[in-house]
Amino acid sequence: MPNAQEASCVFCKIVSGEIQSKKLLDSENCIAISDLNPQAPTHLLVIPKDHYSDITQCQKSNLLGELFSQASALALKHSLNKGFRLVVNTGNEGGQTVHHLHIHVLGGRFMGWPPG
Ligand code: 5GP
Ligand code: ZN
Repeated sequence: MPNAQEASCVFCKIVSGEIQSKKLLDSENCIAISDLNPQAPTHLLVIPKDHYSDITQCQKSNLLGELFSQASALALKHSLNKGFRLVVNTGNEGGQTVHHLHIHVLGGRFMGWPPG
């Protein structure tokens, strides 16, 4: 039974299939989808199947390692061999808008620094 936070979480709904979304990856612990509002020619999201509101709430180093490995492999699978950026927005000042841990995979254009 999902708790109230999970029941209203858009990424939990995508994981469960309640909201349909093409899954670019569907492994035991995570999925990957294309971002609805892409900020680069390639903009993907790697999302753990279990709900953690942000990275500070996930103590599972194995899972965090897997998410980053999957994000890196996905970037190469999507031909981002010239480079890419992995981003984990955290909290309001970190620019997080969906409060379910996820890694952005951005590429296909030059990434400026510092980010906005
Ligand atoms: P955040 O701002 O939390 O770092 O990133 C959330 C991301 O999720 C945003 O880039 C936003 O465009 C994306 N997003 C929000 N809702 C949906 C959705 O229903 N489907 C997909 N594919 N992406 C979403
Ligand atoms: Zn969730």
